[in-house]
Amino acid sequence: MNSLKSPPVDREPKSVAEEPANLIDTSKMNAGQRAALELTEAAREAAAEKPSFVAGLFMGRLDADQVFPYPEQSREDREKGDAFLKRLERFLREHVDPDEIDRTGEIPQDVIDELGRMGAFGIKISTEYSGLGLSQTNYSRAAMMLASYDANLTALVSAHQSIGVPQPLIMFGTEDQKKRFLPRVAKGEISAFALTEPGVGSDPATMTTRAEPTPDGNEFVINGEKLWCTNGVKAGVIVVMAKTPPKMVNGKAKNQITAFIVDMNTPGIEVTHRCHFMGLRALYNGVVKFTNVRVPRENIVWGEGKGLRVALSTLNTGRLTLPAACVGAAKRCLRIVKKWCNERVQWGAAIGKHATIADKVAQIAANTFAMEAMTLYAASRVDKDKKADIRLEAAVCKLWGTEMAWKIVDETMQIRGGRGYETADSLKARGEEPVPVERFMRDCRINTIFEGSSEIMRLFIAREMLDPHLKVSGAVLNSQLPPKVRLQAALKAGLFYAGWYPRQWLPLGTRIPGSLPGALKRHLKYASKTSRRLARRLFHAMVKCGPKLEREQVLLGRFVDIGAELFAIAATCARAQSVLKAGTDEEKAEVVALADYFCASARLRIERNFDGLTQNTDRQGYKVAQQVLKKGPKTLEEGIVS
Ligand SMILES: Cc1cc2nc3c(=O)[nH]c(=O)nc-3n(C[C@H](O)[C@H](O)[C@H](O)COP(=O)(O)OP(=O)(O)OC[C@H]3O[C@@H](n4cnc5c(N)ncnc54)[C@H](O)[C@@H]3O)c2cc1C
Repeated sequence: MNSLKSPPVDREPKSVAEEPANLIDTSKMNAGQRAALELTEAAREAAAEKPSFVAGLFMGRLDADQVFPYPEQSREDREKGDAFLKRLERFLREHVDPDEIDRTGEIPQDVIDELGRMGAFGIKISTEYSGLGLSQTNYSRAAMMLASYDANLTALVSAHQSIGVPQPLIMFGTEDQKKRFLPRVAKGEISAFALTEPGVGSDPATMTTRAEPTPDGNEFVINGEKLWCTNGVKAGVIVVMAKTPPKMVNGKAKNQITAFIVDMNTPGIEVTHRCHFMGLRALYNGVVKFTNVRVPRENIVWGEGKGLRVALSTLNTGRLTLPAACVGAAKRCLRIVKKWCNERVQWGAAIGKHATIADKVAQIAANTFAMEAMTLYAASRVDKDKKADIRLEAAVCKLWGTEMAWKIVDETMQIRGGRGYETADSLKARGEEPVPVERFMRDCRINTIFEGSSEIMRLFIAREMLDPHLKVSGAVLNSQLPPKVRLQAALKAGLFYAGWYPRQWLPLGTRIPGSLPGALKRHLKYASKTSRRLARRLFHAMVKCGPKLEREQVLLGRFVDIGAELFAIAATCARAQSVLKAGTDEEKAEVVALADYFCASARLRIERNFDGLTQNTDRQGYKVAQQVLKKGPKTLEEGIVS
């Protein structure tokens, strides 16, 4: 590390009133908004002692020590992963036909059985419970490999392991629950996760599935219907979220959501419909109906009323699988594009020599490199400390990775031209290589929707980004609190900002690693400076908008996107530095050029987002949308059939 001063660590601000309702003024919200907010606020995890890298960025602190040197996998861990990945790769090549799976909408039972035998359903489950006991990094590598070949298998394995029974039980299960269920699911009994209902998408407060305790309190009786339960059609055991009787807190009835492990052969459970989608044609996804389903109390995960926290915490780590899968798909796209750009000659040159196509190739390669750098960084944090606070890292990886992957698949289709749009089967039938870009595109689209849609991810990240400020000044702005409490809060906030705000203007550097190539040093310095600019601008927006900032979703989204790009720059520089340790001089120069190009492109996106903070059409657009939704200009309705 060179000796540029390291930024002072801001002491975690202490809130005057820690009750969520006291941090956010809910007085101007309607009942539905208030219920949704109170429920999700109550389920929020408190920030860990040491703030995460991404949390620091939003507060003007780029803590390079958290990213440099890039956390490399140990040799022992890599070898363990390699042994499994070798078997998985051979099996995929020799026994799995992804186009056949896509065409028939079915994964052959012998494929599922063999995946079970090789331990693919228990990758992260410890050997004590019959799993492979592999690390999060190796699990991510497996997701990358699967997704580079077949998204249906990825979804099967991931819904089972990242959100189904294993993850919540590893995190919150009792010893008895682990002994009863983990060996079953590790050996291949498929599991699922059931939260969504027809009226419950992003907002669990409206849940109607209920679990009522029996008079003796030993069991709960579940009634309701769950929608889009991935693996539900094949599962032996699932995690179900249901409303349990409300709890009285300070004289007010508080809604309770509880997580139950439910055996699918329990009387009263019925899969009433298998859902079919644009892509992921072999997804075993269904509507699961519960009629007087009796579940023993000992099947509650973590505790009564803690279901939403179970779901959110499960997703914090589980959410890392999707970006890992996106890396696999993106690498496959890059391979397809490389071959085609060299082979295909139009207008007297290979298409890769035409500038617009070359621009796309560079973006695909650079964004894939960054995506992998971010995802493996987040995975390594889990491996280093199971209790690490990676909520923001995982959310940014999910948001940034799934949006980038969609662009990458889209550009891959564009580069392949008409052949990109043609199905692999059709290409094969007329004697061409069955390159499955059309399938990849169909399979990839869902990634920005499930496991937290992009819109919800931006809101989630924005909430965490504002958390230190809410802790300091939320009570000041909350008209529901007594004047004495608000005054006390104002004094504390004044003290905090008197120290914090001037620091955001000082040219404090970040500790830049001395061995980082010059071009990347400049980008890291920019990221450090820009994180303080981000913190300042966020503070200004808070002062200007007050509690109304919460409603400025598009504006908040720009702050979130700037933070995401800064994380991408830091992770990319760190990973490039680590990759530079090996290889020829030519290979090293290629890596530096790629990382340099990525950072330069990310900086342009960042600057566009800064511009958008002051020059935008957000409010105008909102008004137009409301007019359109109410009635809208007639001409937009004319001349169509629907
Ligand atoms: C293929 C597939 C597999 C799935 N697997 C599972 C599973 O295994 N288990 C499970 O429980 N669920 C599963 N789901 C459900 C999935 O997680 C939901 O589709 C997702 O949570 C979004 O909910 P929704 O579709 O009802 O959209 P809605 O919540 O109705 O949202 C519609 C749109 O509005 C946006 N929106 C919603 N609220 C806000 C807001 N406050 N501010 C701004 N924008 C907002 C959303 O981002 C979205 O663009 C699956 C869905 C699909 C399609």
